[in-house]
Formats: sequence, structure tokens, C-alpha cells
Amino acid sequence: MANPLKPITEEIAPGVWRHAGDLKHGMNVYLLPEDDGVTIFDGGTAAMTAGVREAAERFGPIKRLVLGHGHADHRGIAASLGAPVICHVDERADVEGDGGWHYFDLDRIPYRFPRAVYPTLLRHWDGGPAEVDDTVTEGDEIAGFVVKHFPGHAPGLIGLWRESDRVAIVSDTTYFVDSMKFKPVDWANVPNRVFNQDHHQAIESLRKLAALEPRLVAAGHSEPMAAAPATMRMLLEQAANRG
Ligand SMILES: [Zn+2]
Repeated sequence: MANPLKPITEEIAPGVWRHAGDLKHGMNVYLLPEDDGVTIFDGGTAAMTAGVREAAERFGPIKRLVLGHGHADHRGIAASLGAPVICHVDERADVEGDGGWHYFDLDRIPYRFPRAVYPTLLRHWDGGPAEVDDTVTEGDEIAGFVVKHFPGHAPGLIGLWRESDRVAIVSDTTYFVDSMKFKPVDWANVPNRVFNQDHHQAIESLRKLAALEPRLVAAGHSEPMAAAPATMRMLLEQAANRG
């Protein structure tokens, strides 16, 4: 088995590298190299900062860090990376603020162990507020991808969509992990409602992703999911229906 403390960096689609780090490689950051440097999508945890820098080195300078959303485990490297930070216009306040903590419902986590540890974990993962240099909205282009807005889990959650090979990099629009058991799963989930700004909207955003009919969905946690587009649509719709 791979060393659980050493990050993994692997190409999951042409020009798309998944850098999986933190404990058990539970957190994903994506590297999108271009001729003039590399764009980083999503900001993982604070502990991943050195690993991301090292992984990015082979592709040249870091051009910018685009945050999928501003939660603690997605903005971890933002404050200390030293690259321009970009996020959706609706996420700016939380990236520069408490990372969405104000709408988390941690007291309502249904199991005792995760209820006990999440506050500590979130503080440990977080790199703190980061100054946002620029914002994007749906339709903007980033490193050959188009920005898609998937609000609900966070107000300004974004994914990146490349229609030519139907690759979707979606941050926490869907979870391929059971966030209460800290374990990868083989199916898609709507993020747990205790972390969602608007749970109903998070379900609708998963339907929006399904309607794109991706071939590969790369999420914020765990390994990407690949399927024929029609099958992927069905799997994501089923996840939305389970709510
Ligand atoms: Zn999140």
C-alpha cells in the first residue's frame, strides 16, 4: 500500500493532474498545466501547502489558485501559497471570512464520533482567511475549462467543465466519501446537510451536473469516477434523488 502520509500526484485526464494529500490522501487539489505555468484548482488543507508547491514545480510557476469553494479543507493552502487567489463572486465573503462555518450545523451531526471531532478537524485543516484577488462567474474560462456554478454546499461553489472529453472537476458538488465514517465509497452522494448552506440547492446542483453527462467526475475527495455519459447521468441523478 502507498505511504498514507506521502501525497499522490497522478494524471487523470489529458492535462489534468490530481494531487491527493493529507491523511489517507483524503483531500484533492487539481493541477492544470498550461504553457506559461500551472493553475491550481481547489486549495486542500494547510498541511498540503509544501506538497502542492513541490508537485506544481515540474509544470512551471503557479499562475493562480482557483478555489472550488471556501470551506476549511478547500482553502487550506490559499493564505500561504503566495499565488493570486480566485473564487466565485458569491464565495468571496466566506473565503475572506470564516470559511462557511457560520452556516455549518455541527451540533446536528448524527453520530457522536464525527460530532466530537469535526470542529477540531476543521480548525486543523484550515489555513485561515485568504484575500481574494479576482472573482469568476459561470461561463468564464479557466485553463481550457468553463466555470460552472453549483451552489448549495457553499454559495459560490464552482466546478470546471471541459466538453471536448466530458471531464468535470467539481469540488464538493458531490462526495465519493462517507463524510461521517471518513471512508471512500463507490457511489456519488449529495454532501451531508450539516455542511450545506442550502441543502435543497445542493441537490439541484447535482442534477445540473448530471445533465452535463460527464464521462469523468473528479471531486474534492477520493478518486475520480468514470462511466459512460448516460450511465454517469443516471448515477448522479440517483444520488440527487436519495438526497
Ligand atoms: Zn465543502
